[in-house]
Amino acid sequence: MTPTDVLPAKSDGARPVRVRFAPSPTGSLHLGGARTAIYNWAFARACSGSFILRIDDTDPERSTPENIAQIISALQWLGIDWDEGPVAGGDYGPYFQTERAATYVQALETLRANGWAYRCFCTPAELALMREAARAKGGSSGYDGSCRALSEEQSQARADAGEPFVWRLKIPADHGPIAFDDAVCGHTEFPEDSVDDFVLVRSDGSPTYNFASIVDDATMAITHVIRGNDHVSNTPKQILVLEGLGAQIPTFAHLSMINGPDGKKLSKRHGSTGVEEYADKGYLPEALMNYLALLGWSLDGETTLIDADTLKTRFSLEHVAKRPANFDFAKLTWMNGEYLRAMETDQFAQLMVERLAREGLCPPDDFARRPDWYQALAPMVSERAKLLTDIAPITRFLFVDVVKPDETARAKVLDKDPELVQRALRATLEALEAVEIWDVAHIEAAMADLPDVVDAKPRLAYQPLRVAIAGSTVSLPLNESMELLGREKTLARIRTLLQTMPEA
Ligand code: GLU
Repeated sequence: MTPTDVLPAKSDGARPVRVRFAPSPTGSLHLGGARTAIYNWAFARACSGSFILRIDDTDPERSTPENIAQIISALQWLGIDWDEGPVAGGDYGPYFQTERAATYVQALETLRANGWAYRCFCTPAELALMREAARAKGGSSGYDGSCRALSEEQSQARADAGEPFVWRLKIPADHGPIAFDDAVCGHTEFPEDSVDDFVLVRSDGSPTYNFASIVDDATMAITHVIRGNDHVSNTPKQILVLEGLGAQIPTFAHLSMINGPDGKKLSKRHGSTGVEEYADKGYLPEALMNYLALLGWSLDGETTLIDADTLKTRFSLEHVAKRPANFDFAKLTWMNGEYLRAMETDQFAQLMVERLAREGLCPPDDFARRPDWYQALAPMVSERAKLLTDIAPITRFLFVDVVKPDETARAKVLDKDPELVQRALRATLEALEAVEIWDVAHIEAAMADLPDVVDAKPRLAYQPLRVAIAGSTVSLPLNESMELLGREKTLARIRTLLQTMPEA
């Protein structure tokens, strides 16, 4: 292979769309990264292109296998699939930067052959002095190009003598401003003196981010680099590398930052920022994907519920906003509730059983054992739950053997008017004991005149029963709950509460 073989041939016509998400596994997948991944993925799908996952693991100290595994599982949880990358494989691999050393060596050879790279022998102390002097003069603190003056022979001789050196990019002296048309931010220009002859390869032979990343983009035939705009200042450097390589320049699309509700950069201070934390907290991947997609992109300026299939067909860079988006935790939670409500009954019931089984409240195959029971319960729960983690607290009373009245129930009902509680519970017991067919209709009929019988307002008349059944002053609808709980348990709970009441 000659050095130039490292790059795919420049094409004249439109190239098939290839985009990548290139996380550095120095931490877990956070919301900003997930949004970048979603945009790349949706863009690739909408253009019938390819979506590539590349792991930028060049920071050996901070990159860990655990983080890589976490990023992959978080992407999979979100429902993002990739055509090439870890697990998937592909023709442009390897997809881990640590396995791509040969590519960087070849790219450096190409840059040298094209007169775009030179060795720099300046020591850290010399560089520090240089920066200080430049600062004192009020000039740019970048590298002053001292080692550009070395001839190839001098440079080679010093390297052969074992003197440590780095490789720097040799930006042509007459290079003008570096400009590109950003697909989100529009025409963007950097003055020529804003980029110095930056380091491509460190003295230990490792490539820098600005070198490795864009070499990978070029060799992987990436057509669109869609990433956070914290990288925008790297773009001129990367364009220069591509010029030096004689490679095609991709379209850049820099996404605005995500801010917290207060307009400041989103951080842990505002709330959870890791994708996995949202999974744990009971958010649905579909809801999180929908919410993140809308943080800086809109379908038509008004539609808020957008599923993955719509994203995969309708996503476009034209509708990506330049302005930073504010993360609204309450809106995400609302959206999650909407997704729960929109679920098919059986699907929600299955999810419910999964959650309940996880808490040890039912066996994992309980839905298969009594589908009708769960189908009756599911709509009542999905109407009230905003998060999957709400399911167990809402339904626990239906699964446990004994319920204990909570503090509010004690203070607001049992201790407040014990005499009324006893009267109401006795009347309830009597009415329910007479019910022969234990279903909502018959239970309801038996309970209808309870307020008259105990001579109290409906809310006060039914409250003791609710406390007996659910241990709380708020619960699922009472008659339905009693049907689901069954005759024996219902009557037993009323009797138990009655027994604990002080004699009137
Ligand atoms: N590894 C870089 C990061 O995680 C990728 C930057 C890019 O997309 O070029 O920030």
